[in-house]
Amino acid sequence: MPWDGNRLRGILSRFRVEAGKGFRLKDHDPADTAGLALEKREARELLARGREMLAEMQDMLYAQDRWAVLCIFQAMDAAGKDGAIKHVFSGVNPQGCHVVSFKAPGPTELDHDFLWRHAVALPARGMIGIHNRSWYEEVLVVRVHPEILERRQKLPPRLVTSRIWEERLEDIAAFERYLARQGVVVLKFFLHLSAEEQRRRFLKRIEEPEKHWKFSAADVAERRHWDAYQEAYEQAIRATAAPHAPWYVVPADNKWFTRLVVAAALAMAMQDLDLHYPRLGAAALAELEEARRALER
Ligand code: ATP
Ligand code: MG
Repeated sequence: MPWDGNRLRGILSRFRVEAGKGFRLKDHDPADTAGLALEKREARELLARGREMLAEMQDMLYAQDRWAVLCIFQAMDAAGKDGAIKHVFSGVNPQGCHVVSFKAPGPTELDHDFLWRHAVALPARGMIGIHNRSWYEEVLVVRVHPEILERRQKLPPRLVTSRIWEERLEDIAAFERYLARQGVVVLKFFLHLSAEEQRRRFLKRIEEPEKHWKFSAADVAERRHWDAYQEAYEQAIRATAAPHAPWYVVPADNKWFTRLVVAAALAMAMQDLDLHYPRLGAAALAELEEARRALER
């Protein structure tokens, strides 16, 4: 299959959520492959083509120095965030993108508002920023474990009310709208994995010695809260999906398909920016001519 922009746009529209009203995670199948049954080799070739296009567009993004692109990755453990980042971005000039992984916040971070550490990590104009986890953790893990809010976070007590999740989602949506108005293209990927596939991947981590380092007993324990997480994701997507900051609910049970969808979504979003190399005016062109003559003398 060639890299067919129109076909890929059609496929992507199944997974893009721009309006959260009525969104239900249940309507999305983690094993969906949009009817594509690609051989491993075919999928690899298609992804390679996507990577080439990304590299070309990133070069123009950088040269133009106007837009920034922010890719947010959220998922349950073992859904393949790391692999998607590795395989989608490996062709992009390392000077033009940067990855930030957000772990549980430390004391300095907890001394600030929750967006602070994320704001300082935003991509500059011309750059692609990849955020492996993000401000959404504040309405996911913290919502599933409210003791984090009670014991670790340092909000003045009177500000912690039953509306806190709603308020945080509102603030996130407002912040993303602000970013969009500043020329930051916000793309949010939820890698949607099934509980069964997560179980299989955890087992693999136990069986294969070269995967042992990825295994964490805490991740297995966290499976007990599976339904609460799904609920929190659903609420988050409902409250923050927007045309200027869409969510992609990416089926994650098949890694080749996950990577293809992420690459295609990013390629399409960048294509819509109408990127081009800066065009010089008459005076600058004349200057170039003069430099050429000097060099040739
Ligand atoms: P990952 O799990 O993303 O692949 P990792 O296993 O290398 O990364 P972890 O030490 O598991 O790293 O760090 C991620 C953990 O940090 C997740 O459990 C996540 O829920 C937690 N985390 C991230 N942001 C926050 C936050 N704002 N508040 C509390 N916990 C958070
Ligand atoms: Mg982890």
